[in-house]
Amino acid sequence: MTTSTSPTSSSSALAERLAAARHGIADAARAAGRDPGEITTIVVTKFHPASLVRELAALGVTDVGENRHQEAQAKAAELSDLALTWHFVGQLQSKKARQVRAYAQVIHSIDRVSLVDALRSDDAAVDCFVQLNLTADPSRGGVADGELEHLVEHVLETPGLRLLGVMAVAPLGEEPRAAFARVRTASERVLRLAPAATAISAGMSQDYADAIAEGATHLRIGTAITGKRPAHG
Ligand SMILES: *Cc1c(COP(=O)(O)O)cnc(C)c1O
Repeated sequence: MTTSTSPTSSSSALAERLAAARHGIADAARAAGRDPGEITTIVVTKFHPASLVRELAALGVTDVGENRHQEAQAKAAELSDLALTWHFVGQLQSKKARQVRAYAQVIHSIDRVSLVDALRSDDAAVDCFVQLNLTADPSRGGVADGELEHLVEHVLETPGLRLLGVMAVAPLGEEPRAAFARVRTASERVLRLAPAATAISAGMSQDYADAIAEGATHLRIGTAITGKRPAHG
């Protein structure tokens, strides 16, 4: 395994950030009258090397998230000896859908009927979230509010997908708490069609406390735990 950083100092900094995030999550859960044990923290490791994911696993992390297919595929292959749950959280091209199914246990970015069709399979079901677009900009990932029920119904009738719930990213320029309140309302709409789809994937490094207050069950936390992302490109 190769790593360019000093293992001792960077590892202890990583352990400290992870511990601080765990404390912050537990505090936010208690403040919201919730059990911290019902919240899954996914550490988003995009742009970081597989060696960092291995360190996180040694620190007890079980769930990791990636947003780019090729990078995720390579890391999952390199770390196949670890019992990690891989979450795909980025925009997903339909032509890559089958490949993502092969290593990701959870896909958070289901946002259109054509992607659902591309994921159809007679193999074991993959867990998924329907991603909401909380902006008025259609180029952002996520389904438009008015299309939500139609997309959910399509997921429910498609073999090979198990709907866990809804996912969203809080838009810039809106109070995160207000954005996550809208996610909760969307979740209630989904529950009328899919009573088992109780999960809410929301909350990142800067806004996870607000997401927890509005019912998030799955947090996607990157920089608060991993530190600054390395330059890429
Ligand atoms: C990068 C990313 C995150 C994590 O963001 P941080 O601000 O680093 O915590 C969460 N969700 C998605 C979809 C991402 O792309």
